[in-house]
Amino acid sequence: MEFVTGLRCVFCGGDYPAKRHLTCPRCGIEGILDVQYDYRAVARRLTRRVLAKRAGNSQWRYRELLPVRTESAVPDLAVGWTPLTAAPALGRHIGIASLMLKDDGRNATGSMKDRASAVGVVKAREARRKIIACASTGNAASSCAGMAASMGLKSVIFVPERAPEPKVTQLLIFGATVLRVRGSYEDAFRLCQQACERWGWYNRNSGINPYLVEGKKTVGLEIGEQLGWEVPDWVAVSVGDGCTIAGVCKAFRELQTLGLTARMPRVLGVQAEGAAPVTACFESGGTLVPVAPRTLADSIAVGVPRNWKKAVLGVRDSGGAMINVTDEEILDAMRYTGRLAGVFAEPAAATAVAGLRRAVAEGVVPRRASAVAIITGNGLKDIRSAKEAVGEPFEIAPDGGGLEEILRSRGLVAL
Ligand SMILES: *Cc1c(COP(=O)(O)O)cnc(C)c1O
Repeated sequence: MEFVTGLRCVFCGGDYPAKRHLTCPRCGIEGILDVQYDYRAVARRLTRRVLAKRAGNSQWRYRELLPVRTESAVPDLAVGWTPLTAAPALGRHIGIASLMLKDDGRNATGSMKDRASAVGVVKAREARRKIIACASTGNAASSCAGMAASMGLKSVIFVPERAPEPKVTQLLIFGATVLRVRGSYEDAFRLCQQACERWGWYNRNSGINPYLVEGKKTVGLEIGEQLGWEVPDWVAVSVGDGCTIAGVCKAFRELQTLGLTARMPRVLGVQAEGAAPVTACFESGGTLVPVAPRTLADSIAVGVPRNWKKAVLGVRDSGGAMINVTDEEILDAMRYTGRLAGVFAEPAAATAVAGLRRAVAEGVVPRRASAVAIITGNGLKDIRSAKEAVGEPFEIAPDGGGLEEILRSRGLVAL
């Protein structure tokens, strides 16, 4: 917390010390707070030269920009410094000059949520709590449970009825107490909130916990550093609650403020058509109108996003845009991202690629641009949707009967 100067409400602008509050005492649960830093002091410490010499390829290399105490122990699991790889064939397919994928499915529990949960468990330890709780449709929960397990904390997780089975199983493997709420995500969120207040557990809900977004920020910091401080023209990321994109925007703003990069990329936020309240806010300039979410991309099926304002402000600040895609476009993107880049993205992650493709087709992103798409979660976490995208394998007899016909039909052997 060496460089943290306080918390600022994104609604009323009120400033608070970085101690007691999770949300603004004046605005209540709507009053999302944003961590403030002394960037002048950070800039003196965090130079390109210092970073180049710094060992430890994880998100903790940006410790000066994270709201944790200098002496706090951090999880030893792999979090951050995920691969950023060129995807030329995929770039050609979506019609853009240069495309790279930032594969955050490679984090310890398989999603970008690990960046936030890692900060969450450190904060829970700092607050001397033994139990961390979370309400989530999946990835936030499984990463919270995994990080908790690695730090010797207990976790209590509230999941809505429709959470995908692989993610729920992952929770159980990490030893979490899993409560499947016969209801929606909203119900799970409220129950978790009440339980944390009643029993004094640490609340990992990133929608309202200002520290967690700071962890998500590191994906943007890494993109800057991995590209030698030359940021791309565009960065595409999917949007549910809005924390991820808010973190990404904040990261690029910080890199510029610190003098590490010369400019900011434009950030493209992508929502599923059936759950797009943040895009609606971005376009109308008005306040949130909740929706009943309808999309197969469970990780971004959020009808009442808590961080819509931070997200909209961030995208505006970057000079970026918001766009929606259909579930068909998402499934299609899962297929072509796998085939053309060798990356298996879960639906919410493929959404970023689908959005970039549509943005290029509509002229929002120019064809000559360079872009990075953030793959926020691994496809193995939601096999049902993946199967919907790709269907079944060929069946052949044990004696190989039918093999040649199949290979011919696929053009793998000469006719
Ligand atoms: C949570 C999540 C997102 C969206 O992040 P928000 O902070 O909810 O906007 C995108 N993709 C995956 C895989 C996620 O788990």
